[in-house]
Parts: sequence; C-alpha cells; structure tokens
Amino acid sequence: MKNYDVVIVGACTAGTYFAHLLAKEGLKVLVIDKDSEQNLCKRLDIFHFTRDSYDQFDIPVSGDGDAEWVHDFDLCLSKSALDNHPKKSHTKVAVMHLPLFIKRLRERAISAGVEFHFEESFVDVVYNDQKQVCGITTTKGYYDARLVVDASGIPSVVRRKIEDDYIESFEITPRDKFYVLLKYVQLNNPDDKVELSTSWPYYKGWIAPQHNKSGAIIGVGANISYDYAYKCMDKFEKAIKLPEYTLQYEEKGCTPYCRPPLSFVTDGFMVIGDAACLTKPWNGEGIPSAWVQCTPAAKVVAKALSDGKIATKEDLWDINVLYQRGEGAEYAGTRAMLIGAVNMSAKDNDYLFANDIVFCDDDKGPNPNVVGTLLKGVFSGKFSLGGLISLMSASNKGEKLKKHYQKYPESPAGYHKWAKTALKLWKKVGTMADTVKDA
Ligand SMILES: Cc1cc2nc3c(=O)[nH]c(=O)nc-3n(C[C@H](O)[C@H](O)[C@H](O)COP(=O)(O)OP(=O)(O)OC[C@H]3O[C@@H](n4cnc5c(N)ncnc54)[C@H](O)[C@@H]3O)c2cc1C
Repeated sequence: MKNYDVVIVGACTAGTYFAHLLAKEGLKVLVIDKDSEQNLCKRLDIFHFTRDSYDQFDIPVSGDGDAEWVHDFDLCLSKSALDNHPKKSHTKVAVMHLPLFIKRLRERAISAGVEFHFEESFVDVVYNDQKQVCGITTTKGYYDARLVVDASGIPSVVRRKIEDDYIESFEITPRDKFYVLLKYVQLNNPDDKVELSTSWPYYKGWIAPQHNKSGAIIGVGANISYDYAYKCMDKFEKAIKLPEYTLQYEEKGCTPYCRPPLSFVTDGFMVIGDAACLTKPWNGEGIPSAWVQCTPAAKVVAKALSDGKIATKEDLWDINVLYQRGEGAEYAGTRAMLIGAVNMSAKDNDYLFANDIVFCDDDKGPNPNVVGTLLKGVFSGKFSLGGLISLMSASNKGEKLKKHYQKYPESPAGYHKWAKTALKLWKKVGTMADTVKDA
C-alpha cells in the first residue's frame, strides 16, 4: 500500500494534463493506465488543437522541428446541406500527432513530480468508515488517496462503480456516443489541396488537412454504431462533391455525445474528460473543452487537500459551480439547439445557412431577427412549418437549460432539487440519437 494525495485513473489527455496541474500545486500524484507507455493514446493519430489553447492552458507551443507538430491552418468553414453559404470561423488550428503530443505533456508532468504506472488496470473503489472514497485497488495493488480522479475515458471505470447520491453511474451507451470514421485519403488531382477544415453539420461530415499535404481526412460522426456511421458517410459523399481521392487507410473511434453528469464530485472523488462527457456539442472535440474544467479544479483540489484530510464534496463543490455555470451552461444550451437544428430537411437547413440562423460567420454574428426571418421563410414556402416548430422549440428548451445551469447551486445542499429540474429539462430536449430515423 502506498499513500498519495491524488490517484488518477487514465493517462491520456485529461489525466496527464490534470496530473501536471496538481503536481505544480505541490501535491503527490500517481497516474495509472492499463496501456503500455508505447501504446498510450494510440487510438487516435492526427488531431486538431486550436492555437489559442496553448496560451489558455499554458501548454508548450508546438511548431517547426517538434515531432508532434504537422502544420497549422487558420480558417474553418461550415456549409449547408445543399453545399451552399459557407460560414467562416477564423480559428488558428494546429494539426498534430496525439501520441507524440501526449508524450511531451507526460515528460513535463514527470518533471513536475508526477508518478506514472503503465500496464496497471483499475479494479475497484475503496471506501472508509464514513463512506468516503479513500483509495483504489488495481491489478498490481492498493493505493491510499485523498482524492481519486476518473480520467478513464468512455468506459468511465471508476465513476460507474461509485455508489453515491451525487455521482451518476450511467454507462455511455451506443446512443450516447458518436462513432467517428476517418478516411485518410490521397487526392487524385494535384490541383486539389485541402488546406482548411470544412464541415457540413447536416451530415455531421467534414474534410480537413492531414499530415500529408497532398492528402486529406474525410470524417463523419454518427450515433448508434459503426455500421450506421458507414451509412452516413455514404449519404454524405453522395450529397456533397468532395475532391476525387484514393483511400490510404481508415481510423475509427468513439467520442461521447451526451450530457455530462450533473455533478462531477463527491467525497474523495471527481470525474474529468471523456468519462465526464466534456466534449463540444458541435463537433465532438474533447481535449481543450475538458481542460476548461481541470484548470480551476486544480486550485480547488489544492485548497481542499491542504488540511491533510480527504477532500469532501463540500470542499470540491466549486468545481461543479465554476464549470456548470460557465462552459456547462453554454454547451447545454447549444446541445439542445443543435438537436433541433439538424432535425429538419436539407432545404430547411439551407435556409438557416442563407439567413445566418444558428450558422453564421464568426466576425458577423447571428441574424438579429430570427423569428421574423423564419416566418418570412414559411410564408414564402422556403422554410417548412415543421422546421420552424422544431427550431423554435429547441431554442426555447436550450435557453431554459442554459438559465438553469447558470443557477447551479452554491453548495451540495441545493443539488438534489436543482438536479431534479435539470433532468426534467433534459428529458424534454432529448438526445441527438432521437433524431436518427434510418439506423
Ligand atoms: C476519431 C476521433 C477524432 C477526434 N479528434 C479530436 C480533435 O481533433 N480534437 C479534440 O480536441 N478532440 C478530438 N477527439 C476527442 C478526444 O480524442 C477525446 O475527447 C479525448 O482524447 C478524451 O481524453 P480522455 O483523457 O478523457 O480519455 P481517453 O483518451 O479515452 O483516455 C482514457 C485513458 O484511460 C485508460 N483506461 C481506461 N480504462 C482503464 C482502466 N480500467 N484502468 C486503467 N486505465 C484505464 C485508457 O487506456 C486511456 O489511456 C476525437 C475523438 C475521436 C474518436
């Protein structure tokens, strides 16, 4: 048995980043992972990382000469279901190799004092007499900890074993995740170059740069199964004219696509990253969006552990408040809105793009007269009544959810009442999987 301030299960983007922050606060941190060091995070090769995130999260900047860095692009487009009305987002994005990026973050964490154990799996949670989490057992032994952190990704191995009123132990089922297919392709025509990322939200499909400049990545994400994702890829490629290509290889992976747990903490425990479903509702990306929770959380944890005792939910509660009232509220509202915005015909989706409703240039902003423009569309036959009802209803539900999250309770005492209303609101919103009709 060994004593640590914090034991983290999972050594990929969430666990490694959080471990470094905690070590900088002077805490003794152990990270365990079931995979070998060589295989860590290999489930994904190329990923996109917004340049702003380096500064925001104090990450060493990657560029020329760094093994993980491939290149940058600085414009993202999104287009309608009928391939019209491109909307610009002026975001500088780095294209990088994930396993090499995480290696760099791990080396930094080790220099700050973090201990890593590989090829060691979590087995069970250990509780003390007061029913507080006080450690874990693994395939190699037992660790005493004043805080156990679940960063195990979609399997959520620790969260799912917690028996407590403040932690939801739900499984991230096939309906609650996106099956992502990535085709790495070589472009047949030398004049075709993919130098920026273009997405078609209606098909949840996109084309983006990869490590080879004469190539591209074509992707789709879909709930339910890989079989259904292949079907969506087919539909996407039939509807949208992409450059001609030769397939090099395919990559597959899953990302959570569901609401996060309503509380991330309880006595001696917290959950982060994919295990907490902290992905962006509009594209499923989860690296910087999860770190938004980790950055203030490290300060809260350091303070909570300063008295030498187990971190209680009262000590950790600010982690919930800070996240749920901020990014949590924004994403809850956006998720509800998107469910309504994709649940309509291709023609309706084109009308939204044409009129800057939901989808707009980031430097121009949204249409100031949404209701008037939609009504005009209905009366002129350019937008369906069903589309109008779906969108207005989604917008209304999204606003209600956002406001409810902004009123996240100050302390655990108000949690159960708040959670009851939140669950009712989410039930009305439904999930993206509810919009799937042809799986
Ligand atoms: C195809 C695809 C493309 C993506 N592209 C992007 C992108 O461009 N940008 C972006 O921001 N996000 C992207 N994402 C999302 C992003 O990859 C995830 O949100 C993020 O990596 C989640 O990190 P995590 O550390 O929470 O979980 P994971 O990366 O899943 O790591 C969990 C770790 O826990 C370990 N573990 C699991 N069970 C146990 C156990 N029992 N015992 C011990 N260890 C265990 C695993 O081995 C693993 O190393 C993409 C996802 C997919 C599927």
